[in-house]
Amino acid sequence: MNKQEITDILSDNSKNDWLFKKADETRRKYVGDEVHLRALIEFSNICKRQCLYCGLRSPNKEIERYRLSKDEILDSVKKAIKLGYQTIVLQSGEDDNYYQDKMCDIIKEIKKHDVALTLSLGEKTFDEYKAYKDCGADRFLLRIETTDKKLYQQMHPNASFENRVQCLENLKTLGFEVGTGCLVGLANQTIESLANDILFFKEIDADMIGIGPFIPHNQTPLKDMKQGDFWLALKVMALTRINLLNINIPATTAMETIYPQGRLIALQSGANVVMPNVSEIENRKKYEIYPDKAGVYDDEIEFKKKLEKDLISIGRTISTHKGFRKK
Ligand code: SAH
Repeated sequence: MNKQEITDILSDNSKNDWLFKKADETRRKYVGDEVHLRALIEFSNICKRQCLYCGLRSPNKEIERYRLSKDEILDSVKKAIKLGYQTIVLQSGEDDNYYQDKMCDIIKEIKKHDVALTLSLGEKTFDEYKAYKDCGADRFLLRIETTDKKLYQQMHPNASFENRVQCLENLKTLGFEVGTGCLVGLANQTIESLANDILFFKEIDADMIGIGPFIPHNQTPLKDMKQGDFWLALKVMALTRINLLNINIPATTAMETIYPQGRLIALQSGANVVMPNVSEIENRKKYEIYPDKAGVYDDEIEFKKKLEKDLISIGRTISTHKGFRKK
């Protein structure tokens, strides 16, 4: 689709049913009925950045900070493997305590197991990304957040849009499967800029796209802003499926958080991935990028059982392999 076609669909709600059905059919045709599960470990909520929307931003003195040791991370990895998950996602704030060699040591230990490893640690140098790749990391998630440069600069003090794009290009060059994505519903974000986001995903040939509504966090400068709209976020996700065809798309936790059954609705509108949280419950509460995050109190075993049941009820199966992009 071109930009005009995308903006037309985004600004007209009368064709939503058609759109979600079309995205679901596209998902089925290109990636099938399997749902890939990625076990998420949030290993540090310490962050040097000041992203205006995020509860982990460094000026937030209200949250209790934590960082896991290598052994604690490995304990969570073992728990995830025991639950049957075949991809581990390590996510954190931008925490320089995990310097290159320390991170590589953790990556190598994890890759001794038969799992795919995704990292989501923010902006690093080319050499750092290369070191992670060389010791076995498979994928990297780094959302562009918005392709509206002016809005990007407003939302990210002391950061540069160009560097974020450069990081994504570096990750591609290094051979990672690359995930990016955007927030939907930031103040001053236009429909046109959301269309540009989708075109950007296509242009960089992203392998994974995560899309979530913006949720205001009380200890951030955006606390009084309006929450992003679930249906608009879902439309951006559906259009991403229709335009990028065979990529992996998670039903994001932010969608589940703001709308009842948001995860299952997303899975029936283009998504084919779920990211169960396997962090320790006490830490999940502290990894508060936005408030009332879904799944914070879920027992891992119960969650998986319930998810399996839900997936079967919508005619889907749980993937039995690592779920790399089907090219
Ligand atoms: N430090 C890493 C991980 C960030 S947390 C990085 O920079 O990539 C993962 C994602 O949470 C972010 O990319 C952002 O899109 C999302 N997020 C942060 N704050 C949010 C909020 N208030 N509402 C909804 N999503 C948010």
